[in-house]
Amino acid sequence: MNLKTLSLENLPVKNQKVLMRVDFNVPIDKSATIKDDTRIRASLPSITHILDRGGSVILMSHLGRPKGVVNKELSLRPCAARLQELLGRPVLFAGDCVGPEATHIAKNLNPGEVLLLENLRFHAAEEKPEIDPGFAKSLAELGTLYVNDAFGTAHRAHTSTVSLPKLFPGKAAAGFLIIKEIRFLGETLQNPKRPFLSLIGGAKISSKIGVLKALLNKVDSLLIGGGMAYTFMKARGESVGKSLFEEGLEKEALLVLKLAEERKIPVLLPVDHVVTDSLVDQREVKIVVGSIPQGYYGVDIGPETVNLFKESIAKAGTIFWNGPMGIFEDPRFGQGTKDVAKAIASSSAISIIGGGDSVAAAHEMGVADKVTHLSTGGGASMEYIELGTLPGIEALTSA
Ligand code: AMP
Repeated sequence: MNLKTLSLENLPVKNQKVLMRVDFNVPIDKSATIKDDTRIRASLPSITHILDRGGSVILMSHLGRPKGVVNKELSLRPCAARLQELLGRPVLFAGDCVGPEATHIAKNLNPGEVLLLENLRFHAAEEKPEIDPGFAKSLAELGTLYVNDAFGTAHRAHTSTVSLPKLFPGKAAAGFLIIKEIRFLGETLQNPKRPFLSLIGGAKISSKIGVLKALLNKVDSLLIGGGMAYTFMKARGESVGKSLFEEGLEKEALLVLKLAEERKIPVLLPVDHVVTDSLVDQREVKIVVGSIPQGYYGVDIGPETVNLFKESIAKAGTIFWNGPMGIFEDPRFGQGTKDVAKAIASSSAISIIGGGDSVAAAHEMGVADKVTHLSTGGGASMEYIELGTLPGIEALTSA
């Protein structure tokens, strides 16, 4: 993939109306207060680039999961106000992403002006393009160029990410956020500084089996924690008590272990665990070494495992981490995740954290600024590493 061809930098935006897909899916409370505006701030470089060069911007996003129905609590209106503060210039808002109001404002938009459209997912055709191809056409009529800067939804083949850019042949580019993600998740991980270590946790093998196999083509060692470690342990014949275990996935786990062995890639699994007797009202929380006793749930990696993982992390040249080491939402089971976040932050390696919970953990530990790259996509970053591209990137064609 040619990054230069794809980039917003190559798009002649002067006097153009740029339809830009952004990710303003920010946490908003019931009183319409934005709890974290990181995603809005992240879109500023692409927006200001266009405005500074005499273009205007028509922003599109989703917020939450309204499932095709108008839901005032999921309105993007508060994001328009916040963007206006951040940009220091007026941001217009259209109460529906298509229709007469959006058309009227877009038509009269002057260079240097910004319009934010209401939540795309108030229309069912956003997530299901096949039910109404007219939805993409209506959006397309608002602008003259297309930019996608929403990496977190680029793995979804939705109207705004795939059908719409296809209506702008030669005029659909990637914004700076997507370019940055492609650089780190693509180029950096393709040519890593060695040794390249990957730490994968989270709940299930089933959702990450593809990425685990893809990583085996790149890494020098693989560290596995979190709920998925128990399916690996069980596949190796160890007892895992009542821990999260994916029936039928042992074969896949064994295949990963076999592939790793053939390629002489060490795979480190937890050697001790924080366990509890109940996930609802824990009467007992303790550390066990080795396998997990009957009647107990493994809920975090233990201190020995943390030390083992830290040793590997300290020696790495490049680190890719995705997925918590335990049920970190409960502070008693979050130590392992916190410890690895700190270890990654203090290592001198190029460190990339692949979105979602692991990025949240890095923020919680106050170490986010010590990590080389925090990906803005959870599912999207996993899929990008696995497949080397995403539907929303494939759909782009800038001249
Ligand atoms: P994922 O989205 O696959 O990265 O999974 C994240 C989820 O995995 C978090 O909500 C964690 O609570 C959960 N998780 C991590 N470790 C465990 C575990 N040992 N048992 C159950 N759930 C876990």
